[in-house]
Amino acid sequence: MHNLTIAELIKGLQSKEFTSVELTQHFLARIAALNSGYNAVITITADQALKAAAAADQRLAAGNAPALCGVPMLHKDIFCTNGVRTSCGSKMLDNFIPPYNATVVDNFEQAGAVVLGKTNMDEFAMGSSNETSFYGPVKNPWATDCVPGGSSGGSAAAVAARLAPGATATDTGGSIRQPAALCGITGLKPTYGRVSRWGMIAFASSLDQGGPMARTAEDCAIMLSCMASYDDKDSTCVDREVPDYSATLGKPIKGLRIGVPTEYFSEGLNPGTEQAVRAALAEFEAQGAELVEISLPNTGLSVPAYYVIAPAEASANLSRFDGVRYGYRCEDPKDLTDLYSRTRAEGFGEEVQRRILIGTYCLSAGYYDAYYGKAQQVRELIKQDFVTAFEKVDVIMGPTCPSPAFKFGSKGDDPVAMYLEDIYTIATNLAGLPGMSVPCGMVDDKPVGLQIIGNYFDEARMLNVAHQYQQATEWHSLAPEGITAPDGITATERAS
Ligand code: GLN
Repeated sequence: MHNLTIAELIKGLQSKEFTSVELTQHFLARIAALNSGYNAVITITADQALKAAAAADQRLAAGNAPALCGVPMLHKDIFCTNGVRTSCGSKMLDNFIPPYNATVVDNFEQAGAVVLGKTNMDEFAMGSSNETSFYGPVKNPWATDCVPGGSSGGSAAAVAARLAPGATATDTGGSIRQPAALCGITGLKPTYGRVSRWGMIAFASSLDQGGPMARTAEDCAIMLSCMASYDDKDSTCVDREVPDYSATLGKPIKGLRIGVPTEYFSEGLNPGTEQAVRAALAEFEAQGAELVEISLPNTGLSVPAYYVIAPAEASANLSRFDGVRYGYRCEDPKDLTDLYSRTRAEGFGEEVQRRILIGTYCLSAGYYDAYYGKAQQVRELIKQDFVTAFEKVDVIMGPTCPSPAFKFGSKGDDPVAMYLEDIYTIATNLAGLPGMSVPCGMVDDKPVGLQIIGNYFDEARMLNVAHQYQQATEWHSLAPEGITAPDGITATERAS
C-alpha cells in the first residue's frame, strides 16, 4: 500500500479496497520498523491516528467524504498541533505542547486526513541539511551517509522512504524545494499569502510559506487544494478563491513559453545536474513547449539580501523565547538578565544564535539603513527581474539546487557554502512567487530536481506542467533501494 500515490489511496479508500484503519496501521508499522534508520519522524501519534482513521472510515461509509478523508499524513514539526508537542526542531520548544492547531493542521483535520506524527527539521527551519535539529540529523533514504536537505528534511525523507504518502513542509528560502530535490520527491512552495501562516512557528515572516510534499505533482495538487485557504487570523493571507488544483491537470502544454535564465546555469552548477535539467527541458520541447532564454540579472544578490532580511526578521520573531512565558527555562536564574541570557544560550543551537546575532546587528540603529534598508531595495530589484521575465514567458525553469545530496559534515565549518545551496531558490521567496521541485534525473545514484517557478497565484499551471512531465517520465516513481519491498524491510535490515 505504501507504493500507492495519494490519488491511488483515495480511490482505494473510496472503493473499499482497504480501510483507513488498515492503511494507518500499515504506515505506523513502517514508521516503527524503519524510522530509526532515517530519524525523519520525531513524534508518533499512533493512538490519535487510529482514532481518526476509525472516524474517517465511518465518514467514508456514509458517502460524500472529502478527498483526503482517511489518508495518512505527516506534519512538519513547525505547525502547531493541539495537545501534541511542537518543537520546531529546538531544545527551546522541546517541552512545548500547543493549546491550538495551526490553520493548515485544522484544514487537514476537517478533510478527515489522518495525522501519523510530526517530522524532524532544522532548528527553527534554519538550514539546508537538517544537521541543526536538536533531535539529530535526518538521513537521506537514497544514501544514508548524505543529508536529506533542509529545513524540511524530515518530511522529504519520510515521503521518499514511504513512511507516509505526503507531508506538510515550509519554505523560507528553499526548504521545500531543496529537500524535495535531494530526496527525489515533488514539493511546492505556493505564492506568499496562498497558505495561512497562523500557527506555523515564524522564522522570517515576510518569506515563510507552507506547502505540500508528496511523490507526484498530482498528489501535491490534492494536498494544496486542502492546505490553501483564506484565513483572517493571518493578515498576510490573501482572500482569493482556492481553485481545485486537481481539476486542471492533464491540459496539453503545447505553446507553453518556458523561460530559461542564463544565471541559473553558471559556474557552481554540477555538470551532471545541468545535464539532467537540460534533458528535462528537452522533454518539454518535445511536448510542444518553447524555450526562451531570459536573464534574471540580480540573481547573484539574492543570497546576500536574504541573509540580511531573514536573520533580521528571525531576530525579532525569536525574541519571544525568553524563558518567561513558555518553552525552555534555564535552572536557578540569578536575576532577570541571567534568566534571559542563559535560557537563550542554552535553549538555542549555534546556527540560530548566529542568525539572531546577524539580525540584531543589521537592525541596530547605526546599521539599519546600510544593511536592512539596502537589502529591501535589492529585494525590489530581484522582484522586478521576475516581473519583467513573466511579460515574455509563462513559467521559468532551471535546477532546484547546484548539486545532489552532500555528505554529513561536509559544509559544517563553512556557513556560506551551506547558504549557497539555496542560490536558485531564494529569489522566489524574496519576490513572493511560487516555485516547485520535480525529480528529473539521477547523478551519482542520487536524485536531482528541476525547479519550476510560476507567476503569482499560478500554482494550477505549474502543477499541470509538472504533471505532464511526470506522465512522460519515470523519475518520480523511482524508490531508494529496499524501500519498495512489500514487507517494508530494507535490504540492509534483512541482512542483519
Ligand atoms: N536554507 C535556508 C536558510 O537556512 C532556507 C531555509 C528555509 O527555507 N526555511 O535560511
